[in-house]
Amino acid sequence: MRFSCYDFNMVLPNDWKVTIDKKSQYGSGIISFITPKGIALDIVWECLDRYKAKAPTVEVFINNYFEEMKNNRNIKSLDVVKGTPVTADEHETFPHEFAYTYKQPLSRGVSLKIIGLSMYCLHSNRFVVAYSKMDPKKENPDEAAMRDAIKTFGCSCNKNAKL
Ligand SMILES: [Zn+2]
Repeated sequence: MRFSCYDFNMVLPNDWKVTIDKKSQYGSGIISFITPKGIALDIVWECLDRYKAKAPTVEVFINNYFEEMKNNRNIKSLDVVKGTPVTADEHETFPHEFAYTYKQPLSRGVSLKIIGLSMYCLHSNRFVVAYSKMDPKKENPDEAAMRDAIKTFGCSCNKNAKL
């Protein structure tokens, strides 16, 4: 099915459930998709200003983000696969995947794998992240479907504005 809301669109399997956080509005919000096996894919967006002040492009933002993780003493391992940033039509998009182990003193370590995509929407001034968090130690039957859905994610704010 094709999901479209707040000018975001994505193609995903028919049997995924959709929840839109009640506080969502055009400028900020959260949309969650849940697969029948209970794996979530979230779209989170906020005003871009604060992010852009620190990182002028989405590529700089992502590089800073991973630098900070590398400097975090509680992160014991970090494995990053960055995609290629694409800029088109006032949208900077950067797909990324990473896995890490986080361990605070006296607590058990937590391993997470994130498949995601970050976007600077310059036209509507929104910072958007679409991502799915999973346990890298478990077999995840939805992983390929997640990756496919995230690949189709886009923002059509400037197209609608021209109508
Ligand atoms: Zn947009």
